[in-house]
Amino acid sequence: MDKFFEIHKDIPREGPGDNFSTNKALKMVRGLSEKSKILDIGSGPGMQTVELAKNTSGSIIALDIFDHFLESVNLKAKENNLENRIRTVKGSMIELGKHFEEEEIDLIWSEGAIYIMGFETALKDWKKYIKPGGFLVVSEITWLKNDLPKELEEFWNLEYPDMKNFEDNLITIKKEGYNFIDSFTIPDKSWWENYYTPIQKRIQFLEKEHKDDREWQEVLSSNKKEIEMYRKYSDYYGYVFYIMKKSYNLL
Ligand code: SAH
Repeated sequence: MDKFFEIHKDIPREGPGDNFSTNKALKMVRGLSEKSKILDIGSGPGMQTVELAKNTSGSIIALDIFDHFLESVNLKAKENNLENRIRTVKGSMIELGKHFEEEEIDLIWSEGAIYIMGFETALKDWKKYIKPGGFLVVSEITWLKNDLPKELEEFWNLEYPDMKNFEDNLITIKKEGYNFIDSFTIPDKSWWENYYTPIQKRIQFLEKEHKDDREWQEVLSSNKKEIEMYRKYSDYYGYVFYIMKKSYNLL
């Protein structure tokens, strides 16, 4: 874990994404007002948290399990004069009931974090905290093609065997009783600018810094492999935004 944080130190995001995609998804959400409560689950350093605050008028809660990410969210909120709109909660996405009432939240947002709990489990569990007529917006790594190169399939079978294709996620969305509003795949450059490119710089630096440390070299090479996979096979998988609505009909 220490090595993970060393590699990810001070990078702008903790997963692929950018403000353009955050806003594109946010425009599909209706009915927000200054009274709305927006919960950003797995906020990381908070790039999308600030963007949500800037483009809505409600209050934003950033939830993460790591203090140092929440400190970064608080700092960004302050820099943008948004301290009165953004608050942070240290807690786990698997225990929302410790922090929130049922049907309390108008919009649950989660970029690049739902994989931690699993798409289906999270859709099932988080629903009760969303108001009837409220929204759930998540981005999730998704297979975009079915005929996968062996090398790629083997890599992701180890890293995230639960990755689904779009059609399977759509079935889950309907099965869990959400209205499917829309979806889109984030552009390639959203993987590079705020995520893989800064990580690559950290890797290069750390490779030199720890050049005689075998354990370090192994960790760094597995990080490099993930980036290499995306460079080679970005047509086969992507980060997909799913925009969903909890219906009023509770039957
Ligand atoms: N949304 C951010 C970060 C995504 S990375 C972005 O797009 O940049 C996933 C985030 O989930 C990390 O910040 C990690 O600390 C957080 N996380 C991991 N396990 C968690 C849990 N059980 N509950 C809440 N957050 C968790």
